[in-house]
Amino acid sequence: MNKLIDPQGRHIHKLRLALLDACNFRCVYCMPKNPKFLPNEKLIPRDEIFRISQILLGYGIDEIRITGGEPTLRTDFLDIVRDLSSLNLKKLGLTTNGLHFEKILPELSKTNLSNINFSLDSLNKAGFEAMTGSPHLKKVLESVFMAKELGFNVKLNVVLMKGINSREILDFVEFSGKYEIEVRFLELMRIGEARESFERHFISAEEVIKEIETLSQLKPVERPIDSTSFNYHLDNGAQIGFIASESRPFCGGCSRLRLSADGQIRPCLMKSEGFSLINKNEEEILELLHKTMALKPIDRIYDVSQPMNQIGG
Ligand code: SAM
Ligand code: SF4
Repeated sequence: MNKLIDPQGRHIHKLRLALLDACNFRCVYCMPKNPKFLPNEKLIPRDEIFRISQILLGYGIDEIRITGGEPTLRTDFLDIVRDLSSLNLKKLGLTTNGLHFEKILPELSKTNLSNINFSLDSLNKAGFEAMTGSPHLKKVLESVFMAKELGFNVKLNVVLMKGINSREILDFVEFSGKYEIEVRFLELMRIGEARESFERHFISAEEVIKEIETLSQLKPVERPIDSTSFNYHLDNGAQIGFIASESRPFCGGCSRLRLSADGQIRPCLMKSEGFSLINKNEEEILELLHKTMALKPIDRIYDVSQPMNQIGG
């Protein structure tokens, strides 16, 4: 089996695949004030997603996580999942805001997509609307519970912002224990829109852990070397993870490449450089993969101006 090993010796076997940059939410830490989205004809076509993924599989990419923008907004979203589902991947996952899932979930449950991360930043209606610009907390919660019931491996992603949703930390811990759903607290990252409010709203994983310790002891859980999160079990049954990209970067063990919504292979969330793989043959793709891996940073890059919805979080 051909393997992708970058110049630092990191084994690259995961792909983040952005299907589009558009979204029906306006999360304060992600979406620019006046977003400009790619026209449909600039988006990587379905058949190219499949062809490129097949080639990448031959080079050892065995996990794909679909993201965006809001990936479910693509009219061919289910077809793309079905295509990818026919590949022999170890894991096929999705990161989504979870809106309009009542029709999608039963269809997804017929595919090999197994993992769904829902972004859910507040458990109360006003807080949710303040964070996302959407009034649909109830619908998102319904999607989360339905996904769990259908047997998906469900996680919640919560981006914490001091003074906005940080007072809900213990509510999320209780939620995790009560519904047996893993909650992962994401540190706010200095990406695009979030750079301006970063100093005001950043809260570190360490601070969050201190607050949770007032409620319960945190028991560390073992994790794979290339995991982006570190995790704990709590006495109430809660499973809590932290993606502490700012305070505890995980670049040393990074195993990911990214394919942007316009078909560029990219080395890192924090880098805007990339190479289009659209209509490239296998030989050209392999060469571009090596060029991309050579651009993977060793240390965490301080910030990036490109908006998160364009990079694919
Ligand atoms: N729309 C989907 C969603 O929200 O799950 C997928 C795309 S979104 C860009 C992917 C993830 O990036 C979400 O969990 C979101 O909360 C996270 N994210 C976006 N901007 C961020 C930032 N500045 N810092 C930390 N996480 C961020
Ligand atoms: Fe949309 Fe996801 Fe960005 Fe929120 S985080 S604006 S749901 S892409």
